[in-house]
Amino acid sequence: MSTTKDFIIEQLKEEISSFKAEVKEKSVGRVLKVSDGIALVSGLSEAMMSEILTFKTDKGDVSSVALNLEESQVGAIILGDYTAIKEGDEVHTTGRILEVPVGEALIGRVVDPLGQPLDGKGKIETNKFYPVEKIAPGVITRASVKEPVQTGIKAIDAMVPIGRGQRELIIGDRQLGKTALAIDAIINQKGQNMKCIYVAIGQKESKIAALLRKLEEAGAMEYTTIVLAGASTPASLLYIAPYAGCAMGEYFLDKGEDVLIVYDDLSKHAVSYREISLLLRRPPGREAYPGDVFYLHSRLLERACKLNKENGGGSITALPIIETQAGDISAYIPTNVISITDGQIFLEPEMFYKGNRPAINAGLSVSRVGSSAQIKAMKKVAGKMRLEAAQFRELAAFAQFGSDLDEDTSRKLERGKRLYEVFKQDQYQPLSVDKQVLIYYALINGYIDNVPVERVGEFEAGLYKYSDINSDFSKLIVERKEIDEEIEGKIKSLITDYKATLDYLS
Ligand code: ATP
Ligand code: MG
Repeated sequence: MSTTKDFIIEQLKEEISSFKAEVKEKSVGRVLKVSDGIALVSGLSEAMMSEILTFKTDKGDVSSVALNLEESQVGAIILGDYTAIKEGDEVHTTGRILEVPVGEALIGRVVDPLGQPLDGKGKIETNKFYPVEKIAPGVITRASVKEPVQTGIKAIDAMVPIGRGQRELIIGDRQLGKTALAIDAIINQKGQNMKCIYVAIGQKESKIAALLRKLEEAGAMEYTTIVLAGASTPASLLYIAPYAGCAMGEYFLDKGEDVLIVYDDLSKHAVSYREISLLLRRPPGREAYPGDVFYLHSRLLERACKLNKENGGGSITALPIIETQAGDISAYIPTNVISITDGQIFLEPEMFYKGNRPAINAGLSVSRVGSSAQIKAMKKVAGKMRLEAAQFRELAAFAQFGSDLDEDTSRKLERGKRLYEVFKQDQYQPLSVDKQVLIYYALINGYIDNVPVERVGEFEAGLYKYSDINSDFSKLIVERKEIDEEIEGKIKSLITDYKATLDYLS
């Protein structure tokens, strides 16, 4: 009698322990509301953050990403055509988080934030996928920044040098040449073992088409991918674009390669996130941005890194761009991104309109880690350049009021004027590091002091041509990376010989 009772109890216990509640509502929900690329879905209690949800509509499946996990509903951003979705449509969880295709096949291509081709060059043949969101490499796996990214822009390489693995912000008002700096830096990566990714967020497609042509002409598409989320793209895709670009870069990082990513620009990215957040009814904070807008950019830029040898030694260098309003760098998003990055390049309208292009303000621009990545030769000639450039600006402003200046001051002023002439550089004309060393050597050692200010540009161009024909110092600098006695002798005689050919100096 008792054995039967025990048996039944055992059976019941087993039943209970193996019981699995299979309530359908956990993984299938229904659309409560849909508008402006956002949907609210009931059910789906099992949905995960950033999980892909599939909407079953009359016109086929539409993908979306879960962003708000609330007690009774899930808020999702829709990645496809949201007009196909109706209230009451079924929604399924997929158990996958958002991924994009990665790999060599993406080089030379223009893709949307989901990795789909936009350039009409056919399907992207790759079977590798990386998650769009990823936790940044920890501190133990990293190494310090010590190799340079040669941007080829004289003012940057001298004053605010950038190292591989660094995050350097380009900041300024609209139309001051922010994009131009980033594009020139990409063009200059030819032959420098660098993969480049340009993420265009909320820009006109026509602008990107022109930019693509320029990159193709310069041969830069051989190592570059463009991730394009144009001005007409829904906010959901604008929001994903930089993370997707970063994931594409992480593929090369994991292979131990070096990557340069440009995010152009993160102001528009923040605006798209604000739009999404307001539609999802998250509480607005300062400037109506949601409370986690700092995290939006910190988790992205933290993924830029230099890994140590044990982890492959690869790097991701990030050049985020921020557009300011009337030069206000103390607005919410600019201060956030300034505090996340390792320095900023500040572009100034006054200089731009006076013709000092690139219009880099020496006083407000800084690179916190890059100088340890400069090659020795550059450090030697350009070490104090930023300070001198900033001092010149102050001195010049002060000297406006006085007529008789002491000799030292007027010499500094004359030198400064020539320095600013040397900083001038046309677009799409990046300059190799050996030429930069040459011109800065000439400048700091007084060889340009007797060249009239308005002829400095001409003098400079002539010097490069002359050195190409008459000297092998370029090759030596590239090899040895420092100015030893032999090289110094060559530079000196090169400059003196060149100056002897100029009749306006005699
Ligand atoms: P936006 O705010 O529209 O994105 P931006 O700050 O990115 O603008 P660009 O589009 O790069 O600026 O450049 C603005 C204009 O300045 C362009 O017409 C460009 O050709 C010109 N420009 C930029 N850099 C230079 C330069 N070094 N020399 C001459 N012109 C330049
Ligand atoms: Mg731009």
